[in-house]
Amino acid sequence: MNSRLHAAGLDDIDDKLRAGERLTLDDGVRLFECPDLLAVGWLANREREKRHGARTYFNYNLRLEPTNVCVASCLFCSFARLKPTDSAAYTMSLEQAWGKLRKRANQPLTELHIVNGLNPDLPFSYYTDLLKGFKQIRPGIHLKCFTAVEIAYFADLYKMSDEQVLRELMEAGLDSLPGGGAEIFAERVRRKICHDKCGADRYLDIHRIAHHLGLRTNVTMLYGHIETFEERVDHMLRARALQDETGGFQAFIPLAFHPDNNQMRKLPAPSATDTLKVHAVARLVVDSIPHIKAFWIATGVDVAQTALWFGVDDLDGTVQEEKIYHMAGSPTPEGMTTAELTRLVRAAGREPLERDTLYNIVNIPELTPA
Ligand code: SF4
Repeated sequence: MNSRLHAAGLDDIDDKLRAGERLTLDDGVRLFECPDLLAVGWLANREREKRHGARTYFNYNLRLEPTNVCVASCLFCSFARLKPTDSAAYTMSLEQAWGKLRKRANQPLTELHIVNGLNPDLPFSYYTDLLKGFKQIRPGIHLKCFTAVEIAYFADLYKMSDEQVLRELMEAGLDSLPGGGAEIFAERVRRKICHDKCGADRYLDIHRIAHHLGLRTNVTMLYGHIETFEERVDHMLRARALQDETGGFQAFIPLAFHPDNNQMRKLPAPSATDTLKVHAVARLVVDSIPHIKAFWIATGVDVAQTALWFGVDDLDGTVQEEKIYHMAGSPTPEGMTTAELTRLVRAAGREPLERDTLYNIVNIPELTPA
């Protein structure tokens, strides 16, 4: 591999990584520009194996999106509906939302992952009652709910501080925050694709506050639309900087742009090569966040499996009721069983481990024929 790294012009980056030095913006851009995907992947895999060996995590989770009514107009979004009267708009009653968990009483779920549109017509008690009800139905379930964009919207709409919103949601049962809503932190891109929702600084500040309150969170990056390589690496470095400060992020999650049924449908979806490169560069640049996750709904199952050799150590989970990507044309199934995830990981030559949201191991799948 040494001659290959040399031919790819990556000797100095290899030296830095071996010496435990951090990569810079320029290094990250060079990795994106490098045409030798396997050389970049090899470096990322070495870093992945240093931290996690062959271990590959997933969890038994359920996604819920109780409302898609949203006042924002993100160009890449196929999920949101501005008007509650739109035929595709929906808002679940609390009973309907709780019923989604009740009907899975036989499933050993460990996490409920909830995100929504920014709905102007619901009282704050809808969200606190939602969480309280889920905890009553299943007290042990981990509630990973509401992106920082939602938290900012709640604060503005209900006239509270971001911290107050987080504290009240925690009192109702909130256990952690998902990483959605980060998109690309660069102002140039945000102005074009998501100008009317919370900005990068506030997104990061809400995660900072959450970390100080004791919540763990994730951070995402939406790639494959109008962003430059430099903007991707800048995004990674901003996430890394907050992690250096608080240590509260668990996973960095690149999310592939999907072009169906949204205002950016003229753009192609990112290629498999680009997806593998993004995950690999994330592993190399975002050195202080322990896990790099391939969200298989966004990458596609085959690419997520391949990414396990390109820096990725986490595959999210069973998911089960995903709407956001499927309304944008994702051809993946809406859910996978833990047996399917186990087979997928094992077939890639990796070691599957079922975790909970906080990366405690809850099950080591037995060796059965793949
Ligand atoms: S991405 Fe989120 S905030 Fe933006 S339009 Fe869609 S649901 Fe609303």
